[in-house]
Amino acid sequence: MQTYVPAKRVITMHDRPIDQRIHDFYEVDDGLTPEEAIAEAKRCLQCKKPLCVKGCPVSIDIPAFIREVAAGDFKKAAEIIKEQNMLPAICGRVCPQEVQCEGECLLGLKEKPISIGELERFVADTERTNGMVLPKKNASTGRRVAVVGAGPAGLTASAELARMGYHVTLFESLHAAGGVLMYGIPAFRLPKDIVKAEIDAVLSLGVELKLNHLVGRSVTVKELLSYDAVFLGTGAGLPYFMGLPGENLPGVYSANEFLTRVNLMHADQFPSFDTPVKKGSRVVVAGGGNVAMDAARVARRLGGKVTLVYRRREEDLPARKAESLRAKEEGIEFVMCVNPVKILGDGAITGVECVRMEMCELDQSGRPEPAPIEGSHFTIDADVFIAAIGQGPNPLLISEIPELIRGKRGNVVVDSEYRTSLPKFFAGGDVATGAATVILAMGAAKSAAQAIDKMLRE
Ligand SMILES: Cc1cc2nc3c(=O)[nH]c(=O)nc-3n(C[C@H](O)[C@H](O)[C@H](O)COP(=O)(O)OP(=O)(O)OC[C@H]3O[C@@H](n4cnc5c(N)ncnc54)[C@H](O)[C@@H]3O)c2cc1C
Repeated sequence: MQTYVPAKRVITMHDRPIDQRIHDFYEVDDGLTPEEAIAEAKRCLQCKKPLCVKGCPVSIDIPAFIREVAAGDFKKAAEIIKEQNMLPAICGRVCPQEVQCEGECLLGLKEKPISIGELERFVADTERTNGMVLPKKNASTGRRVAVVGAGPAGLTASAELARMGYHVTLFESLHAAGGVLMYGIPAFRLPKDIVKAEIDAVLSLGVELKLNHLVGRSVTVKELLSYDAVFLGTGAGLPYFMGLPGENLPGVYSANEFLTRVNLMHADQFPSFDTPVKKGSRVVVAGGGNVAMDAARVARRLGGKVTLVYRRREEDLPARKAESLRAKEEGIEFVMCVNPVKILGDGAITGVECVRMEMCELDQSGRPEPAPIEGSHFTIDADVFIAAIGQGPNPLLISEIPELIRGKRGNVVVDSEYRTSLPKFFAGGDVATGAATVILAMGAAKSAAQAIDKMLRE
């Protein structure tokens, strides 16, 4: 183990000024300089039994890549990361490291954990500027695998299988690959040229990408059966609504639709692009997760005064802390312990009727169950309402395959090797877990790729 030199954590956040960033979609945080990255890497204890690796769903050799950063060999650091993760610039930006690798870092007991995510991002950004590193690839096996859905799960499964020597055909229903990385997470958190560059690296392993192919419609399930194996990574793109009176009024969006219009269809630039979006002057967003924060911050950048209502307390917000802090900094009003009960208006939204909530007994997850307080109704003026209360697996393809056993929430049920109930069909990511995280989707896809390889070798 290296000698431990107590050091203050370097300042790693370079957020752009608030009054500047709320008017554009450029990235909020500038990332580390090489000097800062080296200084931060030198704080690593280089533990013999590194818990950070255990906390990483794709098992990056974190101490090894950090050692190379500390030594200034950023290319070698990139090679180490790429052995396990083909999407490091993405993960460095959006993974909840605070509850994964960084959450396990021993330094966290004494001071701040190593900023593993920011180091990963630094290495990936440097690599992109200096030329992408590609991991080794096996000779062709002559076998074909179909992957459905080009989100983080599908991209990771494709990369792993291509490296193992399989011919991979990756079907994506949209006109762009990336899934939520492209249509959900806004560019100010995850710039789209970076997503495209990492997708291109996956494709350069020999993956055949077929865009605008909706499997279950333009590609039939029978066609899928002609492959040696199939991986389903179709995500959880089905938005939930609250079933409120007035939910059909124009100006009511699911967060998915609102974000897709802006992120993927460039509705903020209408009429230069075909797709419009209602730019509300008073926007109410319901929800407390990353999706709600993203919708609120996009609405703010479209010029609205934005109120975020959440039925629990601020400490219960499921969004990443850094993102809820930034949302607040950007002027989004947080109204906690409040639930919308009715969208008001006649032909157009005029307001959202809400009720205050009190926290009662603990629910199954150990959180207090919110309950409405009688007589506490009040109205927030609004001309746009965005529901960001969760989403479930997209049923389109999986409901076409009656042999697939599905769980209570419509998710595809898989075993510990990500096999579905239909032979040759594997599934991973949000379609199997319900809405979760990028890195969990990637971890599942890696394991599924290994299981596919094992099956095809038997
Ligand atoms: C707004 C938002 C913000 C988020 N922020 C974060 C964050 O900060 N950090 C984090 O870790 N996670 C975040 N998440 C969650 C994360 O993005 C998802 O858990 C992750 O993208 C799941 O990956 P996936 O590949 O399973 O599904 P997806 O990313 O949903 O990809 C599925 C793909 O399959 C395609 N598809 C679906 N059906 C078909 C079909 N029949 N034929 C062909 N293609 C099909 C879809 O078009 C899509 O491209 C966020 C999610 C959202 C919506």
